[in-house]
Amino acid sequence: MTRAYNFSAGPAILPEEVLKQVQTELLDFNGTGMSIMEMSHRGKDYSVIHAEAIDNLKQLLNIPDNYSVLFMTGGASTQFSLIPMNLLPAGATADYITAGAWSTKAIKAAQKIGNVNEIANTAKDIPTCVPGNDLSFTDDAAYVHICSNETISGAQVKEFPKTDAPLIADMSSDILSRPLDVSQFGMIYAGAQKNLACAGVTLVIIRNDLASTSPAALPDLFQYKHVMENNSLSNTAPTFPIYIIALVTRWLLANGGLEGMQKRNEEKAGKLYAAIDASDFYKGTAMTEYRSPMNVTFRLPTEELEAQFVAEAVAKNMTSLKGHRSVGGIRASIYNAFPAEGVDALVEFMKEFEKNNG
Ligand SMILES: *Cc1c(COP(=O)(O)O)cnc(C)c1O
Repeated sequence: MTRAYNFSAGPAILPEEVLKQVQTELLDFNGTGMSIMEMSHRGKDYSVIHAEAIDNLKQLLNIPDNYSVLFMTGGASTQFSLIPMNLLPAGATADYITAGAWSTKAIKAAQKIGNVNEIANTAKDIPTCVPGNDLSFTDDAAYVHICSNETISGAQVKEFPKTDAPLIADMSSDILSRPLDVSQFGMIYAGAQKNLACAGVTLVIIRNDLASTSPAALPDLFQYKHVMENNSLSNTAPTFPIYIIALVTRWLLANGGLEGMQKRNEEKAGKLYAAIDASDFYKGTAMTEYRSPMNVTFRLPTEELEAQFVAEAVAKNMTSLKGHRSVGGIRASIYNAFPAEGVDALVEFMKEFEKNNG
């Protein structure tokens, strides 16, 4: 069996140790004679895993006691709508910072629900970037929304803006990749399929007082308040992806926590960006100061060469290097679980490809 060097932006690579453990436990979880997928979400065995996933996240991110960890469904995209439905009262305004494709989707969803004020927009800038912190916020904004890492453009927020209103961040593609001061945020959310687990669960970390403001008129399962008060178990939780979160966070704790991950991620991304900078053939897409350590985006001199690059990489066991269909180019997504050897292999291949085609 050969595992691919899988550069997919999401669903993305998982730690091999985690997959092996899942394999071992698949037919018989904990001596129960069944897989975790086949048992009650209220039973003893699943309850332990549910609690561990929450505890591990609390440990890794140092989550203060006045925050709750929620497991919801519908992906980060559903949160784009649930956030204004819960937290943007009629007559109030929410501030949105737009920096790329995902934050553009977030503001579009919010515009259907209530008043929004786009306080910055760098979505069309090339090289790609995120807005600086010289922002003018709306007085008494209900919240400020930001995307911490634009997965498609490869630009990451390095320092979060200081806001009076609760700051809400879409961290789908860089959650758990670096240490974070959760107390800066009113809410953090992330679809699981990039850095947390497989698809099927959405992580929400929310300040309890903010969650408590959910309008009672909303359907129960759309209310942060309801989900919080029921420990994400008022209906059947997505048990299998939550189990994967428990295993992935266990793996993170055993491998140096978020400081350890940040160091590994900087080393991996540093090698790729150094290869880009050492050549005139490859051109990075993001402004140097906003380069993402998760999604490394670059161009070759022509689209024909880009297609050839992607095809030749596949022959060398390196998959999913094609940039997002909306922007083209090359994108190497190198999330927490992506191995350093895969980055070395790509750097070697880039040198060889340039020598043959440059
Ligand atoms: C992938 C992604 C999303 C969409 O997530 P879904 O779970 O598919 O809804 C949203 N925001 C960012 C930053 C992403 O990378």
